[in-house]
Amino acid sequence: MRHAFPGGTPALDFPGTLRFRHRADPREDLDSPASLGAWFREAGITVDDVPAGPDDLREALALREAGYRLVRAAVAGETYDRDALALVNEYARKPTPVPQLTPAGRQVEATVEQALAYVARDVVLTLSGPDVPLLKVCGNPECSQIFVDRSRGARREWCAMDPCGNKIKAAAYRARKRASGVLTAGRAGSRSAQSVSRTSRGPASPFASGR
Ligand SMILES: [Zn+2]
Repeated sequence: MRHAFPGGTPALDFPGTLRFRHRADPREDLDSPASLGAWFREAGITVDDVPAGPDDLREALALREAGYRLVRAAVAGETYDRDALALVNEYARKPTPVPQLTPAGRQVEATVEQALAYVARDVVLTLSGPDVPLLKVCGNPECSQIFVDRSRGARREWCAMDPCGNKIKAAAYRARKRASGVLTAGRAGSRSAQSVSRTSRGPASPFASGR
C-alpha cells in the first residue's frame, strides 16, 4: 500500500492525499497518474489500478480540493463554497464504477471519471449523513487529515498513531522532562532526595501517560 486511509471514508481520505496541509511544505501523495490509479484500488473502489493520464490527474486534484473545502467547512460549521459545491455535485451526477461477478470473483469496470463520481457521491452522503458531528481534524497541528471519530466516548485525537499520535506524545514527554529538569535544578538543597523518589517510580515511558 502506498496510500494511507485513516479518515474512515473516501470523502475524507481523498483530500488526505495532500498531507500536512498546515505545514509550509505539504506532501503530495498523488504525484503521478499511476499513484491516482492505485489510490482507487487501495481505497476499495476498484479491484485493479484505474488507467489514468495527466488530464485525469488534473481533474482529480481539482475535485479533491473542492471536496476538501466542503469537508473543512462542515467541520468548522461554515457555509459551503459555491464553486466547490457545484463541482462535487457535477461529479456526483456521473455514472459510478460497475461491479460484475465473474468466476474469478468481483471485477469492477471503471474509468477515472467513474471512480471520481464514486468519491463525489461519498462527499455528498458523508456531509449530509449521521457522521457529520463525528468529524474531527487531527490533533497534530501540522496534520490536516479529517476523520470520523467512531471511538467510544469520541476521544480519538489523531488520524493515526503513526506518525501523528507518536509525534505529539513524544513532544509532550520531552516538554515534561524539560519542566521537571528545571524544577530539580531550582531545588538544589533537596536534589538527592528527589532523585531517589524519582528512581523508585521506575522508568518513565513516553507512552505511559498524556492521553
Ligand atoms: Zn494526523
